[in-house]
This record gives sequence, C-alpha cells and structure tokens, in this order.
Amino acid sequence: MRFFVLTLFPDMVRDGLHTSIIGRAIQAGHLSLEAVNIRDFSANKHQKVDDYPYGGGAGMLMQAQPVYDAFQSVTERIGRRPRCIYLTPQGKTFHQKMAKELAMEEELIFLCGHYEGIDERVLEEIVTDYVSIGDYVLTGGELPAMVMIDAISRMVPGVLSNEESGSTESFEDCLLEYPQYSRPEEWMGKKVPQILLSGHHKNIEAWRREQSKMRTKERRPDLWGQYLLEHPKE
Ligand code: SAM
Repeated sequence: MRFFVLTLFPDMVRDGLHTSIIGRAIQAGHLSLEAVNIRDFSANKHQKVDDYPYGGGAGMLMQAQPVYDAFQSVTERIGRRPRCIYLTPQGKTFHQKMAKELAMEEELIFLCGHYEGIDERVLEEIVTDYVSIGDYVLTGGELPAMVMIDAISRMVPGVLSNEESGSTESFEDCLLEYPQYSRPEEWMGKKVPQILLSGHHKNIEAWRREQSKMRTKERRPDLWGQYLLEHPKE
C-alpha cells in the first residue's frame, strides 16, 4: 500500500510514521510513505503558499495552485488518480470500519490543511473524501493524516506480526476488547482472574466475550446500541 501526504510539514509526517510498527512495515516494504512538500510547488519567488481570504475574516488560507500542482505531481508520476482524502473538521468522523475499507486501496493521497484551511476551488477539483478525526479543531491536518495512516496500515496484511491481533480488537463486532493481564499473577494485592489461569480455552473465550459486552455497555452505550441492533436475539 502506498501513502502520499501533501503537506507543508513533511518532516513531521516522516518523523511521526517512521518509528515502531509502522516504521518497520515501511522498512519491510509492506507500506510506502511519501511526504510531498506543497511549498516546493509554489509559483511565488518567496515560496509563499497562503494569502488572505476574500471577504475578510481571521487568518490566512492555503492557495489553490501549489496544492493542485503538488497533487498533479503525484498523479502524473504514478499514472493514476487515487482517492484523495482532505483532513478537515468538516468531514465524516473517522472510524475503524472506514480504516478497513480504505486499507483495500492500493494508493491513497492525504491532503493536510493549515492556517484557516484551503481554497475551496482546489478541494472541489481533487478531493474525493472529507474526513475528520473528531469534533475539535487542530492547527493542521498532519496529525489527523498520521492517525489515519496508522489505523489503516494495521489492516494491511503483513504489517502486524500476528495477523490475529488486528481482528480481535476493539470495534470488531461493535464491541470493545475485554480486559487483559500479564505477569505477575498478583500485583498490588490484585489477582489475575482465576479463569485465565485455568487453561480452559472455551471458558476463557466465553468469559472474554461477556467482559467485552459488559465493558461496551458501560463505557460506550452508543456502540452497545449498535451491537444490539446487529444481534437482536441478545
Ligand atoms: N477553518 C477551518 C474550519 O473551521 O473548518 C479549520 C482549519 S484548521 C485550523 C487547519 C487545518 O487543520 C484544516 O484545514 C485541516 O486540514 C486540519 N484539521 C483541524 N482539525 C481537524 C480535525 N478534527 N480532523 C481533521 N483535520 C483537522
């Protein structure tokens, strides 16, 4: 899977994603990441990429031309027009199902805004998906792009060492994951639940499923409502 990130801060994206599991997956060739500096496509001799918004108002806006040229530089090079995701608080909220769906693509382009955002005309021209990572406003789209790339990458075969771990986690089947414990058996007077030491896999599975349900009901009633809709007999 190939990710292209159009940004004014390519180092932030590279540094953030070239570590740990995602960094290893890039090294191993399961993923590739290219951070494209929009400023390199400025037609201005001072490499300016922003200007005042027409009609007035606070802040500066990223101009259409450098964003469009940065996008074109990618699509012309790869000979395709992949989905282009604009990170924006005005988009659909990102979730695990979206991550799974996007992981089926061979290439994705992420467009990161900064300042007050980007001239609407270039968005109309190149963007296929408007995605938000939550109802709050950040200074730029770089962190949201990194969040999305991390979540999507985990769904790409070969990225996680144990393929299982991507499919038994929170949000699978509308449930949160059950509580987990590691050594020692007792810590600060708290004991690991006896059932997990029993070696009885069927009972452990049933206990975990029950814990998942209880946890989801308590912490995420919205998700629990969805679970009940999908499992009307429960
Ligand atoms: N003026 C814009 C508005 O009110 O919708 C907000 C601009 S924000 C300060 C600058 C950039 O940060 C945006 O263009 C977008 O790329 C990114 N951004 C901010 N919050 C975000 C969020 N919750 N999800 C995704 N991207 C976000």
